[in-house]
Amino acid sequence: MKLSDTGLSEQELKDMAKTYMIETYERYDFVAERAEGMYLYDPQGNAYLDFYGGIAVNNAGNCNPKVVAALREQVGDIMHTFNYPYTIPQVLLAKQVCEASGFDKIFFQNSGTEANEVAIKLARKYGIDHFGKHKFEILSALNSFHGRTFGSLAATGQPGSLAQDGFGQMTPGFTYAKFNDLEDFKANVTENTIAIMIEPVQGEGGVNPATPEFIEGLRALCDEKDILLIFDEVQTGWGRTGSIFAWQGYGVKPDILTMAKGLGGGVPIGAMVTTDAIAAALTPGTHGSTFGGSPMCTAAALAETSEIIERNLPANAKTLGEYMIERGRELPHIKESRGRGLLVGFEFDSTVNAVDIKHAALKRGLLTTAIGDSIIRCIPPLIVTKQQVDEAIGILVDAVNAVAAGEE
Ligand SMILES: *Cc1c(COP(=O)(O)O)cnc(C)c1O
Repeated sequence: MKLSDTGLSEQELKDMAKTYMIETYERYDFVAERAEGMYLYDPQGNAYLDFYGGIAVNNAGNCNPKVVAALREQVGDIMHTFNYPYTIPQVLLAKQVCEASGFDKIFFQNSGTEANEVAIKLARKYGIDHFGKHKFEILSALNSFHGRTFGSLAATGQPGSLAQDGFGQMTPGFTYAKFNDLEDFKANVTENTIAIMIEPVQGEGGVNPATPEFIEGLRALCDEKDILLIFDEVQTGWGRTGSIFAWQGYGVKPDILTMAKGLGGGVPIGAMVTTDAIAAALTPGTHGSTFGGSPMCTAAALAETSEIIERNLPANAKTLGEYMIERGRELPHIKESRGRGLLVGFEFDSTVNAVDIKHAALKRGLLTTAIGDSIIRCIPPLIVTKQQVDEAIGILVDAVNAVAAGEE
């Protein structure tokens, strides 16, 4: 829909949003009307270089032509019908995702938090079926992010945060340990623990990659104690960190893996994959979803994942991610430039504020995200070029200097 079709001015649209919408988001001060490849466009046709990719979603580029074509065709054939009949794109996507992730079975959901909900439910069901009623606790990492619904929210290790505070008692059965601290995880495992759940790279927590020793140690701990290892790859999945899934880059395979964001290239879809033996705990009647795995969303995801695989976008993420982290070290007031693949975090010293930097970059035509007051996160589509990375770094240099000079 174009603003010119509505008869509204840009300001009227923004005012209407303030009047009618519950605002839990810190909005960027522009209207995104159209997107293509690495750019978003406002109603005046101004271009914004996209270094947030709809939060690590549009991995094969905004409005990837193959995804758009697949969606258009599917919408004309069948959009939704619930999971009673077999539908063609759903089954083809199931095979493609299982093969690409190295797992046997998949369950489709509509989002990241839902993918984690089914992972949590499966782990608990498996634990109780195999070891008894006590075995349902999940140990996750402090500073993690697993989603906003009550199960995933309880798995999110952020006690006292805006996400959890004031919502009453969190779902029981979740405990936390320090990320990248194997001893703390060992110390917090009990006879009730059925699963350890982590993000291989904490995204919302500020771009913190797991160390190889930590991840290898968790695998060994889980094997020793009959605990399931769950990787939340909602943000790291589908090429982001330089391999199709982060587990492949680390060489440490979990028992259950969740994905969403980059899976669908912009349509709402999430999924959980696991082994045949673990999947057997979910039998007819134990779980379901009205929209999960709809022909519409799975057709788009089939096209998106084919693009990621056929164009080897993880390789571009690896090369340009390393380049971007290197170039980030040149930024003024930088404290640390870190990440894995194209999940990049620039942490600044306390003399500049990351939210100010984000807004200053936006004014200069670059879209990024800020985490807290000190981190700028860059999660561009994986089709980004070296030249565009250089351009983004150039804009960030100007933006940080303007913030430091008190001009923003
Ligand atoms: C975004 C995110 C989620 C939640 O996904 P939604 O689709 O917003 O529900 C869960 N886990 C991780 C690691 C994420 O980055």
